[in-house]
Amino acid sequence: MPTIQTKKRVLVTGGAGFLGSHLCARLLQEGHEVICLDNFYSSNEDNVLALQRHSGFRLLEHDITFPVDVKVDEIYNLACPASPVHYQRDPVQTVKTNVLGALNVLELARRCNARVLQASTSEVYGDPIVHPQPESYNGNVNPIGVRSCYDEGKRCAETLFFDHHRQYGVHIKVARIFNTYGPHMHPDDGRVVSNFFMQALQGKDITLYGDGQQTRSFCYVSDLIDGLVRLMASPDWITGPVNLGNPEELQIRDLAERILAITGSESQLRIEPLPENDPLQRKPDITLAQSLLQWQPRISLHDGLRMTHPYFAGLTQDA
Ligand code: NAD
Ligand code: UDP
Repeated sequence: MPTIQTKKRVLVTGGAGFLGSHLCARLLQEGHEVICLDNFYSSNEDNVLALQRHSGFRLLEHDITFPVDVKVDEIYNLACPASPVHYQRDPVQTVKTNVLGALNVLELARRCNARVLQASTSEVYGDPIVHPQPESYNGNVNPIGVRSCYDEGKRCAETLFFDHHRQYGVHIKVARIFNTYGPHMHPDDGRVVSNFFMQALQGKDITLYGDGQQTRSFCYVSDLIDGLVRLMASPDWITGPVNLGNPEELQIRDLAERILAITGSESQLRIEPLPENDPLQRKPDITLAQSLLQWQPRISLHDGLRMTHPYFAGLTQDA
C-alpha cells in the first residue's frame, strides 16, 4: 500500500544556502509548507528565486541569533556559514550563530513540540586520529585555532541538543554532515570543489594547498538531502548523531585532476601553503546510517562532478 504523506509546516534555517535551498525544494516537492529563514550572511536570494513562485514557500529574513516565533511541526537547523572563508570572516558571529542559533531553535521546538534536526559536521572530529570516523569517536579538535569558531561552535550546539533532549524531552536529530558538493554552491566560498571548478573554467591556476595528499570524501547534494529527510522521518528514539557522507575517499590532488578532465581545462596546478589545522584525512563510517535509515549515497563522485559542471559553467558564462 502506498504511504500517505502528512502535510507539515517546516522551518529551514539557513534555507537560502547551498544545502538549505535543495532541502526547501525537496520538502515543497513532497507537499509540505516551508518557511525558509535566512539572514543572507553567506548566500543571497538567487538560490531560492525559483521557489518563491510556490504557494507553500515563505522567505523570512531573520538572524537566528535572535529568537524566532513561528508555529511549525519540524525544524531543520542549517543556519551557519559552512566554508572556512565564510566562517572565519567573522568568527565571533560564527560562534553566536552556532550556539545562540541552536538555543533559539531548541526553544522553538520545545514551544511547538516540533522535531528539530541539527546540521552538525564532520568537523566535530577535527583532525581525526581514528580513520574512517565512526560516531563513537570523540574527535581531535583544537579549541583555540582559526577553525575552532566553527568546530567548537558545532560541538557546543550538539551538547545543547542532547541536553534539551535529556532535560526537556525535545525530539532531536543530529546529522554529522561530511563534505558535500553540487549546484548552488557559492562560487567564491573558497571550498575546494567550487574553487577548482571556477579556476578550471576560467583558465586560472588550480590552487592546491599543501602537497594535495590530504584526503576528503565528497557526497553529492541530492544524496545528502535524502539522508537528512530520512533522519527527520525516523522514529523518536533515533536521535543520532548519525554520519551522512560518501565514503569514496580521495586525495585532493586527484580531485583536481578529475575536475580538469571533466572541464577539459588546461589550467596548471599551483602549490600553496596548507591552511592552519587543515585535517589530513577524512572519511565517514556510514554503518549507522545504513542500518538505521537504510541510507547510503547513490551518486558516484564521477557522476556527481559531471552533474555539477553545468552549474559552474553557467556562472562563468554569466560573468
Ligand atoms: P551555506 O553557507 O551555503 O548556507 C548556510 C546558510 O545559513 C546561508 O544561507 C547563510 O546566509 C545562513 N546563515 C548564516 N548565519 C545565519 C544566521 N545567523 N541567521 C540566519 N541565517 C544564517 O552552507 P551549506 O553548505 O549550505 O551548509 C548548511 C549547513 O550544513 C551548515 O550548518 C553547515 O555547517 C552544515 N554542513 C555543511 C557541509 C557541506 O559540505 N556543505 C558539511 C558539514 C556541515
Ligand atoms: N583545498 C585546496 N585548494 C583550494 C581549496 C581547498 O587544496 O583551493 C583543500 C583544503 O586545504 C582541504 C580540502 O581541499 O584540505 C577541502 O577544503 P574545503 O575548504 O572544501 O573543506 P574542509 O577543509 O572544510 O573539509
